[in-house]
Amino acid sequence: MPESVKNAKMHILLSEEELQTRIAELAVEISRDYEGLDPLFVCILKGSMPFFVDLSRKVSIPHRHDYLAVQSYEGTRSTGVVKFVADLSSSIEGQHVILVEDIVDTGLTMSYLLESLGARGPASLKVATLLDKPSRREKPVEITYRGFEIPDQFVIGYGLDYEQYFRSLPYVAVLEQVPEL
Ligand code: 5GP
Repeated sequence: MPESVKNAKMHILLSEEELQTRIAELAVEISRDYEGLDPLFVCILKGSMPFFVDLSRKVSIPHRHDYLAVQSYEGTRSTGVVKFVADLSSSIEGQHVILVEDIVDTGLTMSYLLESLGARGPASLKVATLLDKPSRREKPVEITYRGFEIPDQFVIGYGLDYEQYFRSLPYVAVLEQVPEL
């Protein structure tokens, strides 16, 4: 484990209870909006896994799961050029798709996904994100379901990592005093 991970200091921003209460509210909204539409929930790996699972379990209407993973091309993050590391397992043509994301920051990843998946002919394509950092936005993203708006701070926990650690925390915390950030 890197020293920076071992020595990391953090404080809780969103408690487990706050997260679960808000996710239950989002699930009610989604269940109402997608009644009879047989939606497909897409988990954007790796960070959105806990949110995806908790949200899905609270949604009361029938729905299906699929997964994808994306990665920014090294050194070109600011251009928004991302690649699929793992693609969806089947066609989304004619499907009502909800992209489930952990955090929308600059918006570059999500705007790429919306463009790329939008070209595959879904009946609808919407975004559900647990966290939104609007102060860092470089590309506008329409977010239909938003858990929490947070300030421009680096957060970990509940799926979000630092150096691949901390994803298992049941809360979201602000990481303090990490030299590389
Ligand atoms: P965007 O393309 O919107 O700038 O970035 C989206 C991705 O950057 C997220 O899915 C997440 O992986 C990462 N990211 C952005 N902000 C944070 C943060 O505060 N903490 C962590 N752990 N990852 C972040």
